[in-house]
Amino acid sequence: MSMDRRKFLKITGLSLAGLTIQPAFRLFSKPEQKRWAMVINLNACSKKDGCRDCIDACHRLHNVPDLANPKDEVKWIWNAPFERVFGGQGYTTLNEVLKNRSVLVLCNHCENPPCVKVCPTKATWKREDGIVMMDYHRCIGCRYCMAACPYGARSFNWKDPRPSINEINMDFPTRMKGVVEKCNFCEERLAKNLLPACVEACKEKGLIFGDLNATDSDVRKILKSKFSILRKPHLGTEPKVYYIL
Ligand code: SF4
Ligand code: SF4
Repeated sequence: MSMDRRKFLKITGLSLAGLTIQPAFRLFSKPEQKRWAMVINLNACSKKDGCRDCIDACHRLHNVPDLANPKDEVKWIWNAPFERVFGGQGYTTLNEVLKNRSVLVLCNHCENPPCVKVCPTKATWKREDGIVMMDYHRCIGCRYCMAACPYGARSFNWKDPRPSINEINMDFPTRMKGVVEKCNFCEERLAKNLLPACVEACKEKGLIFGDLNATDSDVRKILKSKFSILRKPHLGTEPKVYYIL
């Protein structure tokens, strides 16, 4: 009997004997596997009017161009009106103040990312830790992923972005005309045990980042103690960016 079959029968046997009630995916999942998530506390985030600390830190680090024409805009993290971000989810009827708030948005690193499913070249894919990645060299610029993303989290380089980068960070790749880009949860910083640049830059501590699989992580603790909301949860994408109102 193969190992897999023996293991399966052993687990099934335990379940039938009522010795375990854990879902099967927990039994097979690697306990050490991380699952990155971000919590945005809108009360802390809206304290400083017009604050762009996190946006500037991210865009500087990742060589995001500063293009004057909004049609060409490339962005990894930005502010959008509350109604546009959460419109149709019923929150503005609960609280008038919310209508005038601006909300920080970025790629949600969805558990079920529709952008990944449609990419014909596998230029975008989901890692085991949940980060939805981009390989700029594989991207053919078809923009299927942009059409599939229900959050508008991806940008297309309509022109060569390099002349519009204020100061090039040589430690991060620049992109070329005709490719798509988006937030990468600062995977290059996580690899060095550093927090994402936006989280580090926020002096109001409005951004909390960590491992959803670790019971003692800051994200788990805050999600346990506060009511949080997600963008478009009815779509089943399971965003990993949570908001506290
Ligand atoms: S927010 Fe959009 S780009 Fe990001 S993982 Fe989800 S579907 Fe993909
Ligand atoms: S634009 Fe690039 S990343 Fe997006 S679906 Fe096409 S090849 Fe994939």
